[in-house]
Amino acid sequence: MAEVVVLGAGLSGTIMAYELLPQLRREDRLTVIGQGSRYHFVPSNPWVAVGWRDRSDIEIDLHDVMRRKGIRYLEQGAKRVHPQENRVELEDGSTVPYDYLVIGTGPDLAFDEVPGLGPNGHTQSICHVDHAVDAKAAFDRFVQSPGPIVVGAVQGASCFGPAYEFAFILDTELRKRRIRDRVPMTFVTAEPYIGHLGLDGVGDTKGLLESEMREHHIKWITSARVKAVEPGKMTVEEVGEDGSVRKTHELPFAYSMMLPAFRGVPAVRGIEGLTNPRGFIVVDKKQRNPTYPNVFGIGVCVAIPPVGATPVPVGVPKTGFMIESMVTATAQNIGALLRGDPARSEPTWNAVCLADFGEGGIMFVAQPQIPPRNLNWSAKGDWVHYAKVGFEKYFLRKIRRGESEPFYERFILETLKLRKIKETV
Ligand SMILES: Cc1cc2nc3c(=O)[nH]c(=O)nc-3n(C[C@H](O)[C@H](O)[C@H](O)COP(=O)(O)OP(=O)(O)OC[C@H]3O[C@@H](n4cnc5c(N)ncnc54)[C@H](O)[C@@H]3O)c2cc1C
Repeated sequence: MAEVVVLGAGLSGTIMAYELLPQLRREDRLTVIGQGSRYHFVPSNPWVAVGWRDRSDIEIDLHDVMRRKGIRYLEQGAKRVHPQENRVELEDGSTVPYDYLVIGTGPDLAFDEVPGLGPNGHTQSICHVDHAVDAKAAFDRFVQSPGPIVVGAVQGASCFGPAYEFAFILDTELRKRRIRDRVPMTFVTAEPYIGHLGLDGVGDTKGLLESEMREHHIKWITSARVKAVEPGKMTVEEVGEDGSVRKTHELPFAYSMMLPAFRGVPAVRGIEGLTNPRGFIVVDKKQRNPTYPNVFGIGVCVAIPPVGATPVPVGVPKTGFMIESMVTATAQNIGALLRGDPARSEPTWNAVCLADFGEGGIMFVAQPQIPPRNLNWSAKGDWVHYAKVGFEKYFLRKIRRGESEPFYERFILETLKLRKIKETV
């Protein structure tokens, strides 16, 4: 009998559990360790922050679904992983031993790296549903007395799509309320150009996003380093190619949402051989940690080097489809190892992304996510908003039903020739 443990019950961890089930032998046991009883769909947080969704619309009780699937679910959270002892220490002092461990703990949000940043400082966040609920309350106060808005992503951030989404969603909501004319908006980003997205652009994301920003009267500052945030004021350095400060901006704001840099969560950070200096899980091409080969990493917690040098540090995003490819490869590899076969599956890390702007949006496909690519495509249109709503409903249904990839999803992926596993292996 093998003990297989998934740590983290977010987007990657839940589908990991569902994909592992058919790979296990009858005698094996699957345990998922989460933090609390509920799953929430992170990509819908921007909608919660403007009241287009309630948190209850995007949350699911995990005890219920895990019980139905025969998966043991522990909600007390992990205090520390002990890979040399093959065990996870939980917050309540108990221990979960494992033969195979999959880590899908997502990001720790490094607000503390910029003075005054984040929900405990002076800017809002949409990274967690709790933050999005607070951001909505702040937005309700803001509309009573509108003023300038600053939205973006700080130095070291690796997740830019949601920052663009949120800027355009705010624009849409303010136009609906007919107060957009009272709100100057500035987009502040560590990216060297608009539409870089941590990927050196995909298709024409530079042209598409710049033109959208112009059409929606959103000014921007790129290669931006946020020095500090005070109540109602953000100090931003614009950095040149040579790393020198070209200009310092003092941006007044009445409302601000800035995405922070990410790092690995405390339960894994600083474990020699398991994580890199930022605390991200080091994995090989099969999602396996080289030092501890019975440990796998999936999702945002995985270490991926940046696509190239930029004046201000910019990380690589880990988007949904890319994460699903990590999950499928990991499930197949653990299944093989349980049967005494070698781990052979390599994920494609292809990226398919829908960025919703409230009324329209952009979609891009990057195969693979890191350039040079075999497919490099982007497009915009009203259909993107509806596609994103459909994706949200579909994904939440998958989590509720405990399914990872129903046959119709396989059919669509096959039709679009979007693969999760590399064919060369
Ligand atoms: C605001 C936002 C919007 C996004 N929108 C999109 C999008 O539209 N499309 C797209 O492709 N990608 C999107 N992404 C990127 C990515 O798909 C999501 O971040 C996704 O949720 C990442 O999945 P994950 O499992 O790696 O992390 P998460 O979903 O964050 O899950 C990690 C889980 O691990 C748990 N955890 C952490 N530490 C512990 C511990 N010690 N013990 C137990 N559990 C622990 C956390 O509680 C959490 O539930 C978005 C990201 C953000 C931040």
